[in-house]
Amino acid sequence: MGKIYIIDVTNRDGVQTARLGLSKLEKTMINIYLNEMGVFQSEFGFPTTKHEAFYLEANEELAEMGVLKPIHLGGWIRATAGDVKTAFQLVPKLKHLNLSISTSEQMIQGKFQGRKTKDDILQTMVDAIEAARSLGAETIGVNAEDASRTELDFLVKFASEAKAHGADRFRYCDTLGYDNPFTIYETVKALAENVAIAIELHCHNDLGMAVANSIAGAKGAIDGGQDAYINTTVNGIGERAGNADLVATLLAVLKSKGSGDEYQLGRPIDLSKAWKIAKFGSYAFGVPLPINQPGVGENAFAHASGIHADGVLKDPHNYELYDYTELGRGEPDLVETGREICSGEYGGVSGFRHIMGKMEVSFADSDEAERILTLVRYANVAAQKPLVEDELLFIAKYPDIAKKLLTLRPLDMPEIGA
Ligand SMILES: [Zn+2]
Repeated sequence: MGKIYIIDVTNRDGVQTARLGLSKLEKTMINIYLNEMGVFQSEFGFPTTKHEAFYLEANEELAEMGVLKPIHLGGWIRATAGDVKTAFQLVPKLKHLNLSISTSEQMIQGKFQGRKTKDDILQTMVDAIEAARSLGAETIGVNAEDASRTELDFLVKFASEAKAHGADRFRYCDTLGYDNPFTIYETVKALAENVAIAIELHCHNDLGMAVANSIAGAKGAIDGGQDAYINTTVNGIGERAGNADLVATLLAVLKSKGSGDEYQLGRPIDLSKAWKIAKFGSYAFGVPLPINQPGVGENAFAHASGIHADGVLKDPHNYELYDYTELGRGEPDLVETGREICSGEYGGVSGFRHIMGKMEVSFADSDEAERILTLVRYANVAAQKPLVEDELLFIAKYPDIAKKLLTLRPLDMPEIGA
C-alpha cells in the first residue's frame, strides 16, 4: 500500500507569488519548522538564481550539521541540461532536484510558439535528468507543468521516459487549478497504473479545490499502487489563488471521513507545530490568517450561538472534529502593550542586550555581542520588520551560517553592458 508524504513548496511557489516574498533568514526558519514537523521535503528555492546561492548553500550546511535533518532540501529548476549545470555550479552541495517543463498543447503552442515539438520536450527533459544524475543529484522529480491540460497519452509517455532515465518521482502539476477531485483521481490513478512511478500532486486553488484535489490525487496514486507526495504551502500562499494549504492538507489526510485507515502518512507528522508555522508564515509574509482558516484561524474553535456553545461545553466532539491542543494552540498570545524594545537595522548594543537577555541569552564579551548585533541589523535590513525570537536565537546560535545567509553580492556580477 502506497503512503502519503508532504513536499512543501512555500520557499519556491510561495515566494514567487506577486506582492509577496521572504527574506533568506525567513526561508531558513520555514525549513527548520518544516523539518521539526516531519515534512519529507522542502522545495527550498531556485538554485539558478544568483541571489539564492548563499542561502541555499548555507541551508545545505545546516543539513550537514544535522540541524536540517532528515528533511530533503529540493531545488526547483527548468528541465534543461544548461540549468542543471548552472545549478550545480552555483550550489555544488545540491542533492535533490525537481526539473520542470510544460507538457500541454496550450503551453507548447502558447509559450514555445512552434520552437519545440513534443519530441523536443521529451528529449530536453531526458537530457536534464542525465545531466542531474551525472552531477550527483541523489533524487530527481520531474514536473509536467500544466499536466491537467495535457492529454493522458502524452503524460504517460512523458512520465515513462522520465522513469526510464532514472527519475524518482513524477510531479503532476495542476498549474491552473483546473482539475476537480473526480478528474484528478482518475488521471493520477491511470498514471500510477501505467507508469508505476511515485506521483507528486501539485494543486492550485483557482477554483477553491486545491486541498480536495490533492487528497483525491493522492488516493488515485495509492489506488494505482504508488506513493503520493502532496505539494503544500504554508497558509496556502502561492501564485494567484494559492496552493494546497499545509495545515488543511494534513488535517484532511488525518481527520477526514475514512482517512487514516487505507491512506496513511509515510512519515509521522507532529501536528502540534501547525500553529507555530502558520503564525510565523503569516508574520513573515505580512498576510493575516483569515478568521475562518482551517485549524489555525481565529474562529476555528470559537463558538457563540446558544446551541453550539451549549453543545461544545457538554462535549467538544459535538461541534469540533479535533482538539485545538493537537495543533499546538492554547497558549495565551503574549503581546507587549507597554514599552517595547524591538530589533531594527539601526539598533544599538544596549537595546540588543536587553532583547536577548529577556530570552536568557548572554554573550561572552562585548565583542561577541557587537558581532551578533551586526548580523541582526543585516537581518533587519532584509526583513524590514522586527525579528521574532526564533530568528534572534538562530543568529546567536549559528552566526557563521547567518553571515552566509545574509550575504548578497551583486558587485560580483560582470559590468552591465560588458
Ligand atoms: Zn505551482
